[in-house]
Amino acid sequence: MTAQLSFPHVNHEMFVENVSIADIAAQVATPFYCYSQTAIETNYTNYQQAFSEQDALICYAVKANSNQGVLATLAKMGSGADVVSMGEIRRAIAAGIPANKIVYSGVAKTAEEIHYALRQGILQFNVESEPELELISEVATALNITAAVAFRINPDVCAQTHAKISTGKAENKFGVPISKARIAYNRAAELPGIKVQGVDVHIGSQLTNLAPFEEAYQRIATLVTDLRADGHDISVIDVGGGLGITYQDEVLPSKQDYANIVKAQLNHLGCKIIIEPGRSLLGNAGVLVSSVVFVKQGEEREFLILDAGMNDLIRPSMYDAYHGIVAVSQKDKSLNTYDIVGPVCETGDTFAKSRQIHQSKAGDLVAIMSAGAYGSVMSSTYNTRMLAPEVMVKGEQFSVVRARPNYDDVINADTIPQWL
Ligand SMILES: *Cc1c(COP(=O)(O)O)cnc(C)c1O
Repeated sequence: MTAQLSFPHVNHEMFVENVSIADIAAQVATPFYCYSQTAIETNYTNYQQAFSEQDALICYAVKANSNQGVLATLAKMGSGADVVSMGEIRRAIAAGIPANKIVYSGVAKTAEEIHYALRQGILQFNVESEPELELISEVATALNITAAVAFRINPDVCAQTHAKISTGKAENKFGVPISKARIAYNRAAELPGIKVQGVDVHIGSQLTNLAPFEEAYQRIATLVTDLRADGHDISVIDVGGGLGITYQDEVLPSKQDYANIVKAQLNHLGCKIIIEPGRSLLGNAGVLVSSVVFVKQGEEREFLILDAGMNDLIRPSMYDAYHGIVAVSQKDKSLNTYDIVGPVCETGDTFAKSRQIHQSKAGDLVAIMSAGAYGSVMSSTYNTRMLAPEVMVKGEQFSVVRARPNYDDVINADTIPQWL
């Protein structure tokens, strides 16, 4: 089953698995995120099967969607976690992911975060710079703990994706340049409290083509051979995440095609492989459900104004991202063309221009598709709009896995200075 099949229209009414979206909307109120647990599980199983011939650990990239319900689903399946902050370590552990399956990425780990990660006993630090390495060494030595490290290598390849989510070119802030890697490893080997164990690479997100992965992994393989010649014991290769999903009409390589590339480039080195998928586990497993507030006739075009906005889903305004948008009820409706916009006071608050969907009127529900990754996690309360709740569906059941906050809690989080 592909993830899209978890959101079928049955008799012209949209469902998530076996639950009607209209039924959830009646209880939860819009806007809300809705995830199919089965779709997440299917995506995870596909990765597991694709990598079954390799000694591979899947470390889900928590930043794509860090809801406890999502993390607990993956924890139960045996997933590890790729995290980028102390907050994400806390979330992963709270959901049942064991610390020894957690790899810690991120360009600006603080001493406090490193301290916390060491005390938990994480699997590996993916170190992004020499100053970070020195800090890890200091904190580890003070705690009398050895930190297992890999350097995140910037292989200087073009990921052929959106500039804001491309991370593996020399000009990007991420990782240690491949040309300086041997110096960095030699330095690491000298430092107390550090155990060199691996090499890490992550070149970007929403890659739709395997060639950049192939090029990056080929460079990593050469580097591992060089590092071993330099006397380093390299037993882990973290190949990052980044495999894309179909938002519109992108044709994606399969997870098996991707696994085959990893195998072809790296298998001969005999290392444990870590993969860090985020978007490709969650993206197509979630939708954002919204109601039409008004249909407004502009001078040149007709607007569908929704109760979800850029504060709920920022990808269209931030990355020019395409999301499919469908009417939840399509019974006896013809198609019409709209600009589909949110209520936020920004022109950028536009989900789609000149988009054909079934004729809609105020109060009708629409689903913004492929919103399971980098959706809820990037939302904000801009315009003092409450964070959209999150709902998880499994079969006939649904559960609110994050409730909508109330206005008092949000306003009372601020304090007025006592001198006013
Ligand atoms: C964001 C990120 C990932 C996940 O990327 P996806 O495109 O969501 O698969 C993996 N590893 C690192 C280091 C990341 O920053």
